[in-house]
Amino acid sequence: MESTLSRITRSSLADQTTELLQALIQNRCVNDGTPDSGHEIRTVRTLQEFFEGSGLDGVVVEPHPGRASLIIRIPGTDPAAPSLALVGHTDVVPVEASGWERDPFAGEIVDGVLWGRGAIDMLNLTAAYAVVTRAIARGAEGVAPFRPRGDLIFAAVADEESGSTFGVEWLTDNRLDLIDADYVLTESGGAPAGNQPGIGVMIGEKGVAGRTLRVKGTPGHGSAPWGSRNAGVIAAEAVRRLSRFQTPTVISPQWRRYVAGLDLDEVVSGQLVDPHQIFEALPKIGKLGNFAHASTHTTISPNVIRAGEKLNVIPGEATVDLDIRVLPGVTSDDVDGYLREALGDLMSDITFEGDIFGPSSISSTETPLFDVLGRAVRRAYPGADLLPMLAAGGTDGRFYRRRGVPAYGFGVLSERWDYGTFRQLFHGHNERVDLESIGLTVNALDYVVREFLGEGLGLRRD
Ligand SMILES: [Zn+2]
Repeated sequence: MESTLSRITRSSLADQTTELLQALIQNRCVNDGTPDSGHEIRTVRTLQEFFEGSGLDGVVVEPHPGRASLIIRIPGTDPAAPSLALVGHTDVVPVEASGWERDPFAGEIVDGVLWGRGAIDMLNLTAAYAVVTRAIARGAEGVAPFRPRGDLIFAAVADEESGSTFGVEWLTDNRLDLIDADYVLTESGGAPAGNQPGIGVMIGEKGVAGRTLRVKGTPGHGSAPWGSRNAGVIAAEAVRRLSRFQTPTVISPQWRRYVAGLDLDEVVSGQLVDPHQIFEALPKIGKLGNFAHASTHTTISPNVIRAGEKLNVIPGEATVDLDIRVLPGVTSDDVDGYLREALGDLMSDITFEGDIFGPSSISSTETPLFDVLGRAVRRAYPGADLLPMLAAGGTDGRFYRRRGVPAYGFGVLSERWDYGTFRQLFHGHNERVDLESIGLTVNALDYVVREFLGEGLGLRRD
């Protein structure tokens, strides 16, 4: 008996991806940050059913009950040819259902748009990776089976939304043999920007640092505050100084190339790549303003501020948790230096705690895979260029880039998207994707895999 999911091999890549995406959304693999959440095993089972009869055997790892990942490798014919991994996470972040116009876990299609948590981050890509992988082995409507020269790896991984402890980090430390590759595609890219669309491709991501400021004051009676050293008041001044502090503006070659592709007013474009004028341009570019700032600065955001326990007691202690995102090349010592400079004379009442630090990671655009991505985009948007971007948040790409493996966030979305809307839906209410984008992305990925792993390029591993 054929199951529903295996029956769809006779339909188009786009229809298969749509149907599989609905199933993945309905699996509700919600990762709330606790080890017992996620339940990615549900999606592993769905994918096993999807691959049934395709002749592809996967390996399942489950480092914690329920936190499973599935990895399938299609061996290439030529050991000297480079391999390509498609790495998609299967977990999603929680929802606040009251903010949604539709059921976040139904996977409904309304007027050509598929709604649900994970529709864009990144179950759409994970589903497309599975569909492309199966079509390589078994074909699909309009697509013949194909024997790759280099290995193709499909990895459906757990726990990306909470640091990848039970996903790619665990696999890197314990089963690198399963997921290792010469090149990687993962989230998140594909949003058009500008009038002659440039298509965003993530070539790297910022690093993360965490610090807690501990502020010392002097406790006292709340009825007589004059002359007191209220730790809450000192913390408030620290927050104010941090919010006004400017870390150095860094105009990288990647940022220049991105801005050039945006097709903005010439004056604004010029300001965006001039460290002395960039702050004049930020308010003029709408939803892209905070992204432009984050792309060119190490950012410091005081996100958790605590002081005081009782109404009539002047707090003697306060803490401020800082979410710090660092640019390439910025070190943990640089971060402490920025904080000392920002806080100035307040440092006599403040100590830093915590030394969380993960550096930024970035991949070269001078690779044969990057060229193939550009060609794939131009099949959908003739004349379009790739816009290399640095993600402000983290993805599984960093575990590869840190080992020197180029990893790109790639997709192709329809013209109804812009980068501002795309970012808003990540972890936001009413996450959704249009069916046209699903088709554009899966067909682009199918092209990339066949082109990159085919005979034509004659690539060799170095
Ligand atoms: Zn994601």
